[in-house]
Amino acid sequence: MKKILIGTHNAGKFREIAYLITKKYKKISPMSLKIKSPKETGKSFISNSKLKAIFFSKYVNYPVISDDSGLCIQALNNKPGIYSARLAKKYGSFFKAMKFILKKMKNKKNRRATFVCSLSYKKNDGKIISVEGRLKGNISNKIKGKKGFGYDPIFIPLKKKITFGQMHKLKKIKMDHRFIAFQKLKKKIKI
Ligand code: IMP
Repeated sequence: MKKILIGTHNAGKFREIAYLITKKYKKISPMSLKIKSPKETGKSFISNSKLKAIFFSKYVNYPVISDDSGLCIQALNNKPGIYSARLAKKYGSFFKAMKFILKKMKNKKNRRATFVCSLSYKKNDGKIISVEGRLKGNISNKIKGKKGFGYDPIFIPLKKKITFGQMHKLKKIKMDHRFIAFQKLKKKIKI
């Protein structure tokens, strides 16, 4: 069976990416190989997903797919953006980071936000293929729902009335920023 390394330590992302890739691949996690994550030194989602793909492919002789993603909030100058994971680390949990965001968003009329995902694919000897998916939505007034991961409980996708945290997992996987990026990747490679 062909193998692919899904270059993320985030269980939520791993689950979503593994679901999208065909059953022909055995999906390997960096944790199972005891590989740590590289430092995210890039200034954009694409540069960070590329550096992760390059880093992880040094450890294996099969393809790697890596993700860099985050939540960009218009009224907060598109923050936390590439710093989404670091914000949660700074505050100690996603729950606390979401509380911090909602406090900053108090009285803000413009609640528009975009979930962004860059996926990079690298075959061991090949060049990197990178794509980006974006999903627009709004920041909710409260933390709602226990499904999903990360910032899901404060993001309401456009034309929907519930947060990703309230949405059935499969429904979210089939519409989110990662899904949109993956559809673009599928046009370039068989995966
Ligand atoms: P990074 O790509 O490792 O820098 O982490 C991205 C951060 O954004 C993580 O903390 C994720 O939890 C968050 N994030 C990315 N995609 C999603 C999503 O689909 N739902 C909720 N949070 C997400």
